[in-house]
Amino acid sequence: MSLSVPRYWREIRYRYRLIGERCTRCGGLYYPRRAICPRCGSRELEEYQLSDRGRIVSWTVIRNPPKDYERFAPYVVALVELEDGVKILSQIVDVEPEEVKAGMRVEATFRKIREDGTSGIIEYGYKFRPPIESKQDLS
Ligand SMILES: [Zn+2]
Repeated sequence: MSLSVPRYWREIRYRYRLIGERCTRCGGLYYPRRAICPRCGSRELEEYQLSDRGRIVSWTVIRNPPKDYERFAPYVVALVELEDGVKILSQIVDVEPEEVKAGMRVEATFRKIREDGTSGIIEYGYKFRPPIESKQDLS
């Protein structure tokens, strides 16, 4: 598999909240948000609070990240399928890269994404991690 890592960083500004869009005509769910429903062409879309739980579909380990993200390396970027069927690209935290498996359950967590040393701006957003209770389930 291959994930577009530059695309992940480009879209991260829209990732502060797990808010997608739901088409009021056909019920399609989208993330990131869209102006027009790609399925039925309707412009009648409303905000939709996405599920904060899902499973890892595929992933990649980033060892040479873009500038400003070096402190996270190595880290995992995964395609997560949420319980409501929406697929979302996210960093996976609190797990070693070699522990990541397809089908692994994850939940959303709110974390620091980026620190801008010159402006003092700190960006926060959702990342995903294995659910706390599943660590106890693993036997
Ligand atoms: Zn639609």
